Amino acid sequence: MDNTTLDGNAAGGILREIFPFEMTLVEETCAHCSTTRVVGELTVYMSAMGTVMRCPTCDNVLMRIVSTKGGCVSCISKQSPDTFTCPPGATLIRKT
Ligand SMILES: [Zn+2]
Repeated sequence: MDNTTLDGNAAGGILREIFPFEMTLVEETCAHCSTTRVVGELTVYMSAMGTVMRCPTCDNVLMRIVSTKGGCVSCISKQSPDTFTCPPGATLIRKT
């Protein structure tokens, strides 16, 4: 890992702005290699332009998060909602 590469737990704060539950514990299945991991284990690249979360196995982009000047946070995911395994009682809300 270099200075800009972190694990998914580093994105916990911004994920809490989007999702109404602890997202780092949610399982996500990579559409490219079919590996299932919790979001906290994904590889995260954070910069002033936004946050990109990649599969640690194949480097496929799983999620992009962009904050705008107006304070709006957008989550852009190529994954369909059913690839997320949410904790019991949680509902996934996606903003695009
Ligand atoms: Zn993968």
